[in-house]
Amino acid sequence: MNKKTCILVSILSIVPFISVFAQKPQLPRPPASVEVPAVPAASADVTSLKAEYEEYFSALQAYSDKAYAAPQDSPEFLEYSAAGKYLRAMVENLSARIKAETGLPYQPGPARAGAGVSAKVKAEVAGVFNFSDIRSGETRGVPIKQGYCQVNYVKNNTPFLVQYDGFLNKGEVILTFDDGPGPLTEEVSASMKDGGAQALFFVLGVNLGENGKARLKTEAADGHFTGVHGYNHATASGKPFTALSLEETLKQLGSVNSSIASTIGKKSSFFRPPYGVISPEAVRAIYSDLGLVPVGWTIDTLDWSTKDPETLYQNTISMIAKRGKGIVLMHDIHPQSRTAAKRLVKWLAGNGYKVVSPERLVQAFKGE
Ligand SMILES: [Zn+2]
Repeated sequence: MNKKTCILVSILSIVPFISVFAQKPQLPRPPASVEVPAVPAASADVTSLKAEYEEYFSALQAYSDKAYAAPQDSPEFLEYSAAGKYLRAMVENLSARIKAETGLPYQPGPARAGAGVSAKVKAEVAGVFNFSDIRSGETRGVPIKQGYCQVNYVKNNTPFLVQYDGFLNKGEVILTFDDGPGPLTEEVSASMKDGGAQALFFVLGVNLGENGKARLKTEAADGHFTGVHGYNHATASGKPFTALSLEETLKQLGSVNSSIASTIGKKSSFFRPPYGVISPEAVRAIYSDLGLVPVGWTIDTLDWSTKDPETLYQNTISMIAKRGKGIVLMHDIHPQSRTAAKRLVKWLAGNGYKVVSPERLVQAFKGE
């Protein structure tokens, strides 16, 4: 393995631990049934870390621009949004590693930030999501539950869970937060509670160490719901569940749900696949074997795409106003999301919207 490949592999294998680094320099203890790769020693080569950062950051910006330009339910949007979420995790990880080496946060130069997507990153993203280069105007849809959700094959071979919100009345909103729990979770949880909103937090098993479990208890005590997102996001290297066997997927999700149950005394009823990427077979098995109802989103705030809470808040309220209702996706691991969500819940209350219970999702899926 050459040096560059070695660095890349090191980065890939520690992506799921970003939020752990951010909160405390200790790893949570995983469920005994799930194998976790060892964290490799950090590279001291700051120059190459910065070059990697700039390459991923310019790609992140390019995918963010493409996502904003595409209609939210289009195949292109699903593709760009998934790529952007993956690249944000890579960028945050590199940022944490540079800060660990230099003691300072890193900002790339403006010229490099506008460099677009390099061939290397483009190939990496295509490989991660198994995106085919074949472009067609059509996508194949597999029904899961009429009027609730289906799975669409995007770029002909990558299955995305597509959510509908026809069961919500005008003005009704469901608020969801993914990828925690993390150091910002309790603040998000408290601000939702203060705003009279019950939210749904999709958690990662890798974050359920001692601190994470305490945060889970806080969410539950604040009246919120917990959903299963994955053990990792969804593999240790950040690939979606399509990279795992169905058996392994069920094992991981089952172990996360056991952790949730042992922490808050109640199993979860909700599952959201990382990036929304999941096969129809897996969606059905996850419900029949684990009792977890699939949950997508109908308003992707793209909160990974900007660090500015004001921009995120304005974008989010205009998306909600345009649709008039919806299942809103944010992440309780980003500072901009924490700040924007706090304002959002007040705006919803002041503008005739009602944040409804996430239990409506279960009722809609089961046809109750
Ligand atoms: Zn996620």
